[in-house]
Amino acid sequence: MKSARSFTGVLATAAVLFLSAMPFQAQDSTQKLLEQLSNAPGPSGAEEPVRALMVAHMKPLADELQYDGMGSVIARQGSAGPRVMIDAHMDELCGMIRRITPNGFLTMQMLGGWLDQALVDQRWIILGSKGPVQAVTGIRDTHVIPPAERTQVFPRDSLYLDVGAKDAAEVKAMGIEPGDPVVPDSPFTVFNGTKNYLGKAWDDRLGCALLIEVMARMARQPHPNRIYYAATTQEEIGLRGAITATQIVHPDIAIAIEGGVAGDTFPGHPEETQAVLGAGPALFLYDSMALPNRKFVTLVKQTAAANNLPLQLDLVTGYGEDTAAIQESNGGVPTVNLVAPVRYTHAHNGILNRHDFDQLVDLVVALVSRLDQNTVENVKNFAP
Ligand SMILES: [Zn+2]
Repeated sequence: MKSARSFTGVLATAAVLFLSAMPFQAQDSTQKLLEQLSNAPGPSGAEEPVRALMVAHMKPLADELQYDGMGSVIARQGSAGPRVMIDAHMDELCGMIRRITPNGFLTMQMLGGWLDQALVDQRWIILGSKGPVQAVTGIRDTHVIPPAERTQVFPRDSLYLDVGAKDAAEVKAMGIEPGDPVVPDSPFTVFNGTKNYLGKAWDDRLGCALLIEVMARMARQPHPNRIYYAATTQEEIGLRGAITATQIVHPDIAIAIEGGVAGDTFPGHPEETQAVLGAGPALFLYDSMALPNRKFVTLVKQTAAANNLPLQLDLVTGYGEDTAAIQESNGGVPTVNLVAPVRYTHAHNGILNRHDFDQLVDLVVALVSRLDQNTVENVKNFAP
């Protein structure tokens, strides 16, 4: 008993030392906004908690707020001039309850681009009719598993959620039924006192936070445009909210904001993506679904240089984002996709760098401030 008590004492002392060694972090309003948005559940098609946050922040800054029929929120500033759309999506990688087994386990339909190896042994939150329910994806036990299976990736359809229930009746009593959304359980953390934030759904809550920060900045400055800030739904399952949001906005020009893919981790895959965490905002020159407008690209480069902002150029081998839908609307729309690079986008634990976010906000404010009727017409003009 004595040794157990002293061991506990050592642990407590270590905890105090550890906490006092952590640099003090005053929580500013931007950090609070990013934390709120990262922690909020926003599964595709059930984005209500994120939408409520967006509306609460956007309403006081908007001349008008409207919705499309898919749940996207569209805030407008300005009543004349070209229609400038700034887009970010509210939904995140998620799942949906498919089936409750008689012995009280649940199977899950995945939504969005998951890796099978990201799914096992994770904590999740099921958004049931009686409120959130904690769940864990079960894992085979290493004590009994055959040696050949120890290095294997378990396919998603072999996985199940465990909510601690003894049978199907107990699951149903928790308020869970087929179709209920499931999101990662992964609370926001300032990463060891660095400028990096650890959390889920930076793709694309950093874009949602940017919409609000840019709205606040543009509300204080005159501009000759109608700026539409569109927080869209269901991007992760096919850019669906962006398609319908453009039918409301009819944009002349558009900027999408995304979580980019940092390619700076061990061992590195420079041909897949070139962005580096902490090296500033990045511009997509290529992804598998969209090419940016070349004159708009030049304008972004000039704007970054004129404002002494770093700009990374990124060609991403996969990926698809809202500009693919926006540029094919309204007779063809010049678009660019601007990102803050994120490590581990479609997973429980992503890393966003705060400097990258702040400089992305500065870049978008500077870019929108350069737009007017002439500039937009020039970007859209393809006459030889
Ligand atoms: Zn995204």
